Amino acid sequence: MEEEDLKLDGNAAAGLFREVFAFELTSARGRCDNCGAVAEIGAVMVYANAPGTVLRCPKCGAVLMRIVGSEDRHWLDVRGITWLEIRE
Ligand SMILES: [Zn+2]
Repeated sequence: MEEEDLKLDGNAAAGLFREVFAFELTSARGRCDNCGAVAEIGAVMVYANAPGTVLRCPKCGAVLMRIVGSEDRHWLDVRGITWLEIRE
């Protein structure tokens, strides 16, 4: 089997996305990409008065996640999180 045969577009992950993002995320644990601290999302610092909502690391203050919404969509910036562990 060729590598090209294994490559699909993002629509192939639709079921996985529905499964992963259907859970309560405040109990998910994430790793700060800046300092390596691991914390539950419910324990991070949230600034809701910024343009959108900004989540910051409780240890170093680095931005972990930005969420900006409009009437019909949301933008999610998670570049400050190395990984996110979501428990079922
Ligand atoms: Zn940090």
